[in-house]
Amino acid sequence: MTARILIVGSGPTGLLLAGDLATAGIPVTVLEKRPHKVSNLSRAFVLHARTLEQLDARGLADGLESLGQPLDRLRLFGRLTVDLSALPSRYRHLLVLPQYEVEKALERRAVEAGAEFRYETELTGLTQDADGVTAEVRGPQGRSETLRAAYLVGADGMRSAVRQAVGLPFPGRSVIRSVVLADVRLAEQPPAVLTVNAVGDAFAFLAPFGDGYYRVIGWHRGRNVADSEPLDLAEIKEITRLALGRDFGMHDARWMSRFHSDERQAPAYRVGRVFLAGDAAHVHTPAGGQGMNTGLQDAANLGWKLAAVAGGHAEPALLDSYQAERHPVGRAVLRSSGGIVRLAMAKRPWTLAARAALTVFLDAAGPARRKVAAQITGIGYRYPAPRGAHPLTGARVPDVDLAGGGRLYEALRGGRFVLITPEPYEAAAGRADRLAVARWASGRRTTVLVRPDGYAAWAADSAGPAAVEAALARHLGPAAPAGRTASAGRTAPAGPAE
Ligand SMILES: Cc1cc2nc3c(=O)[nH]c(=O)nc-3n(C[C@H](O)[C@H](O)[C@H](O)COP(=O)(O)OP(=O)(O)OC[C@H]3O[C@@H](n4cnc5c(N)ncnc54)[C@H](O)[C@@H]3O)c2cc1C
Repeated sequence: MTARILIVGSGPTGLLLAGDLATAGIPVTVLEKRPHKVSNLSRAFVLHARTLEQLDARGLADGLESLGQPLDRLRLFGRLTVDLSALPSRYRHLLVLPQYEVEKALERRAVEAGAEFRYETELTGLTQDADGVTAEVRGPQGRSETLRAAYLVGADGMRSAVRQAVGLPFPGRSVIRSVVLADVRLAEQPPAVLTVNAVGDAFAFLAPFGDGYYRVIGWHRGRNVADSEPLDLAEIKEITRLALGRDFGMHDARWMSRFHSDERQAPAYRVGRVFLAGDAAHVHTPAGGQGMNTGLQDAANLGWKLAAVAGGHAEPALLDSYQAERHPVGRAVLRSSGGIVRLAMAKRPWTLAARAALTVFLDAAGPARRKVAAQITGIGYRYPAPRGAHPLTGARVPDVDLAGGGRLYEALRGGRFVLITPEPYEAAAGRADRLAVARWASGRRTTVLVRPDGYAAWAADSAGPAAVEAALARHLGPAAPAGRTASAGRTAPAGPAE
């Protein structure tokens, strides 16, 4: 059967994944229940450093940077800010940019790479067997049909039909109810690009769309009403005044809504040939702006693995590492965003004391501040490595300069592994579609095999050609003999890192 992959959902997670698979030459179809139209009702506003690095590895970061506003400090609430200016990254800032701009760029890339999009097509059920997945879909005019694929990824958001179809629960709870949202014009310019604060029972956040409108998000502890309760601008103005001291003359709301924010995580990200990614796998509060960023990282982790397996270069066991690597990150993000909200809305004396202590501690303690910044921006995560592995194994590899003038994240464009060596290295022919070879600009002696998602698969301080060749065979499969395609042979992968 064909190795086609189905992705359900064309939010940011599904779009990045579709682009990665199509770039790797894997046939991919995206099912999206909405009609194809660009929405300006953005949800996320923040791209963090690790996401910008991933977008750089796809040639998209420069274009998005030119559309957004960089900020080198993230204010969480009150005096508690996270300084990003010393991040060990090319991106020592966050980028304020509406989610729809990110989606537009990712969709363009996926379409150009050959991904197929089917809009007004809703997944209604699925079954799987040893060879593949059968998806039941309802298309335009309510027409039902079944589609067959080798693998299916549910990137279909928090109410994921895919998650329900494979019988996975979504345990957790509602953290805050009756959050109010509006897109408004302001008579007065706010003091900062992102304005956020919590005072007493009220919390408010303001961010610019760049088209004259601002997104306002507000919450008041005393207004615990259902999402269906009517909402007017007067309520939003009042909450904003309580939290920010003024309402900046907000007027002309083009959209208003109430929502509740949940903290939930699926216990498994994989059931057989079906995967969950993004909000389908985990949801948490918007605090710290980590939701979309975490989903994009899920997609970057899963994409190259699915491409390797579907392309015949790795055994399906490689796909187990998706759960092993991304589930703990999802759990950590749930904890950190929940912690920010609880501290921001602290009322009891002991939580207020903890908040004051944390503010002082983060102001003073360099390492703690750096750790918080690394976690919120995603650059602090590393993946598990086997016992005895080189310390770099599983670590994020920063954007190092390469001999000859290039840099690592440019070399990663195209979705290949990159082998960085101290000396010129002639890799066996027959892997050029999956491997780029480069040398350190710095004269460093370590040899590192960098995965397509920018984490070290393998490293050694003094490796001879036999050791390097063994690592390449383990992680990329055998080199194809001249005149044959690389997918002719399969190899058992050593897992994500060794
Ligand atoms: C107010 C607010 C502010 C936020 N701010 C931030 C922020 O600053 N930073 C950040 O990183 N994150 C933020 N988030 C979270 C972020 O918006 C989400 O995490 C992100 O949209 C998740 O992307 P996704 O692709 O996983 O899912 P979604 O964007 O939800 O996309 C899922 C897609 O699947 C489609 N779909 C659903 N069911 C089916 C079906 N059965 N068949 C076919 N298609 C289907 C839907 O139509 C949708 O297009 C915020 C969220 C909110 C609500």
